[in-house]
Amino acid sequence: MTSAPGKVRTVLGDIAPADLGVCDAHDHLFLRSPQLPGQELESAGAAAEELAEFRAAGGRGLVQWTPHGMGRRAELLPELSRATGVRIVAATGLHQAVHYVPESLERLRTGGLAELFFRELTEGIADSGVRAGLIKVAGGFHGLDDHARWTMTAAAEAHHATGAPIAVHLELGTAALDVLDLLCGELAVPPHRVILGHLNRFPDLGLHQQAAEAGVFLAFDGPSRTHHATDWRMPDAVRSLADAGFGDRLLLGGDTTTAGARSVRGGPGMPYLLRGMRPRLESAVGEELTQRILTLNAARAFGVEWA
Ligand SMILES: [Zn+2]
Repeated sequence: MTSAPGKVRTVLGDIAPADLGVCDAHDHLFLRSPQLPGQELESAGAAAEELAEFRAAGGRGLVQWTPHGMGRRAELLPELSRATGVRIVAATGLHQAVHYVPESLERLRTGGLAELFFRELTEGIADSGVRAGLIKVAGGFHGLDDHARWTMTAAAEAHHATGAPIAVHLELGTAALDVLDLLCGELAVPPHRVILGHLNRFPDLGLHQQAAEAGVFLAFDGPSRTHHATDWRMPDAVRSLADAGFGDRLLLGGDTTTAGARSVRGGPGMPYLLRGMRPRLESAVGEELTQRILTLNAARAFGVEWA
């Protein structure tokens, strides 16, 4: 396997990208949102058990896309990583406004958002000493509101100062091209530093191809969610992109967002990525490409020449 340049910034320090191993490129050990009352991912014990299950299924690396202010519990991540042997990457960034109480956004508006992202990437999250390895932001449904433009502008600024990748939650997989126009056009972020999440929720294969042609990474993530009507389209979408020559732009993730979705609570959880999704993909695009997506592609997406 060809190696990827740079370093991946994990919660235990910077590592060679190849050391990420088989990687869940988008998931959550901890998450809290007013949109998901009663379903908070906040139990350290459940997170440890889930991570151990993921490791037993062959997982070696995990990227948590939980941004600032949503209960990341950064201070717990180093010990979880040490105890399970799974490399963990934490995020800075900001989600859609609906995931916050208005007062906390007001504080961020006056406090300097790009500076906050920069500090979390270079010094650490709060006083945990844990540095973030990516910036997570979010688009809206078929468009970008003022909040999305504000957070993406700050993310681009923090990217230009550090090199950090920017991972984007696309609302139901929409507004991909609007995000590219803003981030890569107006704000001049190199396309290979942008990861678009949730395109699987909007299985327009032509649109996927257009995004891939722009040079971004496409994350097919979310099989750990229940009631997900488009999961069965994922292997075809991945095959279509691979056939068009974009196998090196693809990422896979579980995106566990609720306590009930954890495997240790009876849901598909993190192990499903490797026990359910991987064999399904292997039958669609072969073992070699599936393995490359889980290892080398993740190494390239999160390996950064940190400034
Ligand atoms: Zn997510």
